[in-house]
Amino acid sequence: MTTVVPTGRMARWLRRWVLLAEQTCPNGGNHEAVVRIGDTAEEWRSTAEGAWVVAPAGAAAVPAGDPRWPGRCTGCGRPFTATDHHEVRVDRLMRRQGSAEQRPLGDWGPDVIVEEGGRHP
Ligand SMILES: [Zn+2]
Repeated sequence: MTTVVPTGRMARWLRRWVLLAEQTCPNGGNHEAVVRIGDTAEEWRSTAEGAWVVAPAGAAAVPAGDPRWPGRCTGCGRPFTATDHHEVRVDRLMRRQGSAEQRPLGDWGPDVIVEEGGRHP
């Protein structure tokens, strides 16, 4: 078992993709590309149902003209067009308890234990 604690930071990725209903990649699945960009401060949204981490202002936080957006499909090299989808993905950056090792929460595996310490809303 691994216990992790929040760093207060979020890992971010920029994803471009095309709906399968519009076009299929010749190498299977969606035309898609994902690149990791710099981390950012963790942001939370709270409602009556609970609280969860959100992307800062969604895709608007990284304008479509930003050169960090991937330009081509990883599978086949097809260039993305202006109307293809943009998504800013985020995941909480967690630190192994008692260590400096940090990874996005999704990279710790299914048996990870999250020690929140009551810091989120
Ligand atoms: Zn493709």
